[in-house]
Amino acid sequence: MKAAVMRGTQQFAIEDIPTPEPGPNQVLIKIRYSAICGSDVHRFQYGMANSGSVLGHEYIGEVVQTGQDVTRLKEGDRIVGGGGTPPVGMQGTVSAGERYSARTVGVEATRIGGFAEYVTMDEWRPLMIPDGVSDELAVLAEPASIAVHAIRNSKFKIGDSAVVMGAGPIGLLTMQVLNAGGASAVYVSEPAPARAEAARVLGATLVIDPVNEDAVARVLELSGGPGVPIAFDAAAAKQTFQQGLEMVRRNGQLLLISMAWEDVDLQTVDWIGREVEMKASYGSAPNDWQTVLNLMERGQLSEKSMITDDSFIGWDEMQVSMERLMKPDEHVQLVLVP
Ligand SMILES: [Zn+2]
Repeated sequence: MKAAVMRGTQQFAIEDIPTPEPGPNQVLIKIRYSAICGSDVHRFQYGMANSGSVLGHEYIGEVVQTGQDVTRLKEGDRIVGGGGTPPVGMQGTVSAGERYSARTVGVEATRIGGFAEYVTMDEWRPLMIPDGVSDELAVLAEPASIAVHAIRNSKFKIGDSAVVMGAGPIGLLTMQVLNAGGASAVYVSEPAPARAEAARVLGATLVIDPVNEDAVARVLELSGGPGVPIAFDAAAAKQTFQQGLEMVRRNGQLLLISMAWEDVDLQTVDWIGREVEMKASYGSAPNDWQTVLNLMERGQLSEKSMITDDSFIGWDEMQVSMERLMKPDEHVQLVLVP
């Protein structure tokens, strides 16, 4: 089968590698769509994936072969590549370690992910896509689960207003989940015009351009003075951490979803007096994935403006697309069609 194999920092090779064989408790999945995640871009950019590994974890596809002991899935089932509940006794083995660091834990050479034609998964891992949910929407299930996890991890309550900084896939999905969860207003701060437009289409109350206006002053004004209860950092730009802490009201919260790989600017004196709080969120749990599929089934999440005809790329565009995403501008989400 074809796969985009890591062959050094910032270097893919499209290679023919053996099609994996499902074990007794595994299924073989033919991948239909495989979205490129910001974290894949980081692994590519900073050399966090060993030579020989295959990145990609945001995929959907169809079960085409089942191992002899598989009972829950059958050939032809449409699935998303994750979200299942580990069987009893296995929970401890799949969670990140106590001192887990995204900077130091790379991808081992043997991992074969979603930038390939086929992938094998343990039967418990994938979730079935509900009938009414399109492939184009379902491929956003993994990043949407990150958004749900972040909001469940936060102090957000129904009726709160919120700010989302950054309108990449995670920011746009966070905004949509906040709307579905009863936010009174969701203000999005985003400098790139295409991403700002996507935020408008998908239901942002207002989009702020943080380059041409003072984002903090604007949020304070919109809140009537005190600031918003909560801000989500889905940008990890140099200034957003500080901006988020300045935007929230007394005892408000900045929730970090994105990962900054470089130093960020902080001026403690500007926000310490309001006893604000910062919290990080990472990954997602089975319950978050199920929540996403429920929201998708009820029509409360949309891929409009995120996944468009321009989003889909072939093998020969993988390398250049990854390089382009190191400085994202016009595209919101790119999806490999293997
Ligand atoms: Zn991801």
